[in-house]
Amino acid sequence: METLLTRLGASGVRITAQRRIIAECLDGANQHLTADEILGAARTSLPEIGRATVYKALAEFVDSGTVREVQFGEGPKRFDPNAHIDHHHLVCNRCEQVWDLDATACEVKPVYDSGFVLSHAEISLFGQCAACAETAIG
Ligand SMILES: [Zn+2]
Ligand SMILES: [Zn+2]
Repeated sequence: METLLTRLGASGVRITAQRRIIAECLDGANQHLTADEILGAARTSLPEIGRATVYKALAEFVDSGTVREVQFGEGPKRFDPNAHIDHHHLVCNRCEQVWDLDATACEVKPVYDSGFVLSHAEISLFGQCAACAETAIG
């Protein structure tokens, strides 16, 4: 299976041993970690890894177009390893978890008289996940 690491390599990002670990922490479906969460995860396998190393790697991953920086509402910036898949997001207001939603499941086809040419649509849908909705009072 193609991994984030493969995609990073293919897009010309220099892969070091440290970056391999950062990419592995970042990879996966429905993953939208903050830089500090990625740093914490990376430190479980590489305790000596520095904050600057992680932040610099993330910036390069984003510059390469392989990782997308996303932000939901007022929340912190998060990193999405699935920039290659056109997708929207379901955001739970209570537990703050984020799920990917295939863009083809709710296709947006705006036709603008202004001649606006759409490159991609990025939509965040806010609400409550099934688990939170179930435990909600009232
Ligand atoms: Zn929830
Ligand atoms: Zn996503």
